[in-house]
Amino acid sequence: MFCTRTNCVKGHRALCYGFVTDWLQGHERAERDVQRQLTTVRDLRKTNRAGALWELYLRGALSRREIGASTGVSLATVSNVVSELLEQGLVIEVGLEDSNGGRPGSLVQVNPTFGFVIGVDIGETAFLVELFDLGMTALASHRSTTVLTRLDPEDAVAHVVEGIERVIAEAGVSAKDILGIGVGVPGLVEHADGAIVHGQSVGWDAVPFEKLLRRHVALPLIIDNGAKTLGQAESWFGAARGVDNAVVALLGIGVGTGIISNRQLYRGATSSAGEWGHTTVVVDGRECRCGARGCLEAYIGAAAIVSRYEQLAGDPHPETQVDLEDRITQLVSARQDDENAAKVLGETAMYLGVGIANLANLFNPQRVVVGGWLGQALSTALLPQIRSAAARNALRLPFSHLEIVRAELGSDAVALGAATLPVAKFLSLGGPTKASTSRNNDRLSRRSS
Ligand SMILES: [Zn+2]
Repeated sequence: MFCTRTNCVKGHRALCYGFVTDWLQGHERAERDVQRQLTTVRDLRKTNRAGALWELYLRGALSRREIGASTGVSLATVSNVVSELLEQGLVIEVGLEDSNGGRPGSLVQVNPTFGFVIGVDIGETAFLVELFDLGMTALASHRSTTVLTRLDPEDAVAHVVEGIERVIAEAGVSAKDILGIGVGVPGLVEHADGAIVHGQSVGWDAVPFEKLLRRHVALPLIIDNGAKTLGQAESWFGAARGVDNAVVALLGIGVGTGIISNRQLYRGATSSAGEWGHTTVVVDGRECRCGARGCLEAYIGAAAIVSRYEQLAGDPHPETQVDLEDRITQLVSARQDDENAAKVLGETAMYLGVGIANLANLFNPQRVVVGGWLGQALSTALLPQIRSAAARNALRLPFSHLEIVRAELGSDAVALGAATLPVAKFLSLGGPTKASTSRNNDRLSRRSS
């Protein structure tokens, strides 16, 4: 029997013979092979684009030769990929490489204004929304605080939506040029039917936060734990940059970590890894907001530190994070003259050092980065004490390979890290999908007109 299909992949109209069933089965297999080959070609193209974009994004301007060397792709393929990216406006030429007598190649980098991203930091009492270009330069920022004493999901959504509208208006960009919005939240994030937030310490029990936000926001959303977004920010741009294995600690009212393992965020089975603040440091110790006792957060969290000071000194209780930040600043600056402040901060440094020793023994990081507004305040004042407590409690070998450093990024690091979530997705997809390519073609043609 002859094959009459004009697109027979075997390439020979007369080669399909034998039993009808064999022929049909053979064709089904052949069709699948074609699909697989097409998929593979598409995948390969996407992989090559993604590889080049990631290199350019994290390393800056590179020549085609350098991209090829670091991605293991031939110069011819890299040249094709770069030409395509230049044509789409994703990358731009930025000069010539240094040459040793030969003809210098041109350098390309990711076009920072190809698209924009928004990062959101939902704190326990304050909300920060920032709009960045692809070079992560903040173009607009909006901070607000809640008047409620407890973080409420609908109230948080209202603050975030207002912030998003404000930063888009302030930056003067079109919503369709925004690649996505990343949101850092104070709780565990389960990715089921949209992101579900489990914020045991803030009273959020399986809050369908993505669904709540989607009622008001049509742009692509990626929601993650705030400590993890801080970890990603410090790993890409800050104190954990260039380090394969690091732990970035977020210290504020709550305490958490982003664990970087082989340059990737370690998430665990249900993405809840890194809840360092709720590891037990004192059996049956102080009550923690999570309901357990003796958690690290109950010793080094901001409210815990201030409350311990009040116990010793008998001061009134603060009600908001602003009060807490002021109180911590006062304690740190008064530690030379105020015996109670010195005592409380000495204890805090000890527990923080113990917590870091546990991280060293468990994860063997090259670097522990102490961040968050509280982490910055404590590490500025107490780093030698924190280091010596960690040294006393860690095993010698992992401690000998460990650096304990302050975070490098500022108070918007959680929002910055959240904004890297849509950037990471964009780079891993190798740039825009078909729909967004036409979107950007529209944009490019509009700009040139
Ligand atoms: Zn706890």
